[in-house]
Amino acid sequence: MPATDLDQIVNLCKRRGFVYPSAEIYGGFRSSYDYGPLGSLMLRHVKDAWIRSMVQRRDDVVLIDAAILGPPAIWEASGHLATFTDPLVDCKVCRSRFREDDLPDPDVCPSCGAKGSFTEARAFNLMFKTYAGPVEGAGAEVYLRPETAQGMFVNFANVLQTSRKKPPFGIAQVGKSFRNEITPGNFIFRTREFEQMEMEYFVPPEDAPKWFEYWCAERFAWYVEHGIPADMLRLRPHEEDELSHYSAGTSDVEFHFPWGWGELEGIAQRTDFDLTAHAKHSGEKLEYFDQASGRRYVPYVVEPAAGANRTLAAFLLAAYDEDEVGGEARTVLRLHPRLAPYQVAVLPLSRKETLLPRAREVHRLLSEWWMVDFDDTQSIGRRYRRQDEVGTPYCVTVDFETLDDQAVTIRERDTTEQVRLPLDALVGELSDRLGL
Ligand SMILES: [Zn+2]
Repeated sequence: MPATDLDQIVNLCKRRGFVYPSAEIYGGFRSSYDYGPLGSLMLRHVKDAWIRSMVQRRDDVVLIDAAILGPPAIWEASGHLATFTDPLVDCKVCRSRFREDDLPDPDVCPSCGAKGSFTEARAFNLMFKTYAGPVEGAGAEVYLRPETAQGMFVNFANVLQTSRKKPPFGIAQVGKSFRNEITPGNFIFRTREFEQMEMEYFVPPEDAPKWFEYWCAERFAWYVEHGIPADMLRLRPHEEDELSHYSAGTSDVEFHFPWGWGELEGIAQRTDFDLTAHAKHSGEKLEYFDQASGRRYVPYVVEPAAGANRTLAAFLLAAYDEDEVGGEARTVLRLHPRLAPYQVAVLPLSRKETLLPRAREVHRLLSEWWMVDFDDTQSIGRRYRRQDEVGTPYCVTVDFETLDDQAVTIRERDTTEQVRLPLDALVGELSDRLGL
C-alpha cells in the first residue's frame, strides 16, 4: 500500500535524512527545504534517470546548462515580464494576502473570517528580481529564471550550429528555477526554489500534433517504468482558460497525492511563440533552413517540462509500504533500484578486527559501480530494517565464513530472500539483479 498520508513521508524524510526544513536552527524558512545525505542522492538519481531516458538513450536530444541569472530582455521577449502573474488580493481587516483563484470562497477571508474585506485583485509578477554588480536600480536589474526553457530558446542558433542536429531534435536542461509563489505548500510539492527537467523538441510546424501525442505517451510511460502504478497517474488535458500565454495545448501528467491530483509534468505545444518572439526582440534569425528541400521555417516546439522535487515526492509516496517480516512490522520503500539513494549496503556481521577489513574491501569493490552504504552498527536485523526503510534494494553480508569460503550473502529488500554466492561472482550477480 502506497502512503495515504503525507506525514508518513514527511516524517520518514526528516528521520532518515532525505529532506530537512531549511534554516531549521533559525526557526526555519517557510516552504524551503534542504536535501540531506539520502535525499540529495535520490534527487540526483531522479535527474539522472530523466537524462538517461531523454538524452543518453536517444540520438536526437542534446543537453545544455544555461545561466540562472538573465537580463530583462529575455523575459520581455518571452512574455514573462508582462504576463507571468498571479491575481493577488489583500484582506483589509487582517492584512493577510492570498491568491484570488486559491480562495475557497472569494468573499470570505480564510484567516480572520471577514466578509467582503478583500482589495481589488492586482497582478503580482512571480519572477524574483535582483541586481547585478554594485549599483542598484534601473540598468542593473536581473531576474532569476522562472523556467529553464528560455535557456534553450536563446541558445537555439548556437546549438543548431554546433551540434549539427536538424528537426525533429531536442535541447534538454536540468536545473533550478525560481518563482515567488504567493501560496507555496504541500511539503516539497510547491516551493519558491525548485528544480526542473525540461526539453524543447523542435519540429516542422505540421508535425507538432503528432509529436505532442508521442511525448505525452513517452513521458507517462517514464513514471510507470520507474515504479509508479499506472492507476496513481493520469494524463489531463488543460482547459482553454488554464493554458499558459505561449501554449496551443497542454496535457499534464498528474499523480494522485494524498491531497488529490497534482501535476508532475506538463507537456505543452509552445508553437513558434518563443523563437519568433526572441527573433523579433533580438534581431537574430532563429529558424531552420532545410537544404534538401530548400525550405526555410521557424520550428514548432513540443515541451515536456517536469518538476524534479515533486517527482521525488511522488516516487517516495508510491514506494512507501508497511508489511510484516517474521512477525515484526517493517516499513519499506520499494523504490526502483535506479532511484534508491543506495543500490547496495555492505554489512559486516560483527565489528571483529578479523572481519572489518574484508567487509571494507567488499565496499570498495562495489562502490566502483554503485552508491554503496557501509553499516557496522547495531544488530544485523536492525540494519536490514534500516536499509529497507530507505529503499536499498540489496544488502551484502560479510560473515566469519567469508574468511574461509570467499562467499557472501545477498539479501533482497522486497522478498527478504537470501542467497549465498562467491565473492568473485558478486558484481556480476548484483549487476544482473539491479538491471541498471
Ligand atoms: Zn482577514
